Amino acid sequence: MINILNLLFPKRDFCLICNEEKEIGSLCTDCYDKFEFINGKRDVDIPVSFPLVYNNFLRKVFHQYKFNGRNYYYKIFVEILVNSFKDSSNDVDTIVAIPMSGREKAKRGFDQIEILVKEVAKSFDVFFLEGALKKVKETKRQTGLDYKERSENLKGCFELSKDISARKILLIDDIITTGATINEAYRALSVGQPISIQGLTITSARI
Ligand SMILES: [Zn+2]
Repeated sequence: MINILNLLFPKRDFCLICNEEKEIGSLCTDCYDKFEFINGKRDVDIPVSFPLVYNNFLRKVFHQYKFNGRNYYYKIFVEILVNSFKDSSNDVDTIVAIPMSGREKAKRGFDQIEILVKEVAKSFDVFFLEGALKKVKETKRQTGLDYKERSENLKGCFELSKDISARKILLIDDIITTGATINEAYRALSVGQPISIQGLTITSARI
């Protein structure tokens, strides 16, 4: 007899990426091992930590996540971010996401940063300050631009719209490249005089 409940709510016992049996979080051992873990740090205007090397595997997974409708991949990144930051999570009480513009959101159908940031905040039991930063200016695509050009492009694009005074902020984005985006977000956030701001991204790619 067909079990109706299993049809309606299939068990997710399989790797989110390749559908083999899962063993580590949402992944099978093979897929997990294709990620390269590091205790990465970048010092831009704020210290930014990241757990993954930007290797070819991650590049492909990112592409599927952002542009190929694999929205559910956020679960993989949440697990990785939570695991990497759990020892420092006591140093923060509020999480803020780098916002996408309305145009980008409309194109992709969802805000891929916000969805995972929400889950990270839940795991740490800290406050997710939704919409703390607003994107108030459309910007050009950043590909091919160097740090100076990116900074110019992003200048004034974020605005603080929530009270963050006396908070310890963790700012999350998917990837840090030149650091121009994080620095611009930092400028907008520092207007609100929080106690501290640090950054967390999934990975880092230098150009
Ligand atoms: Zn797999």
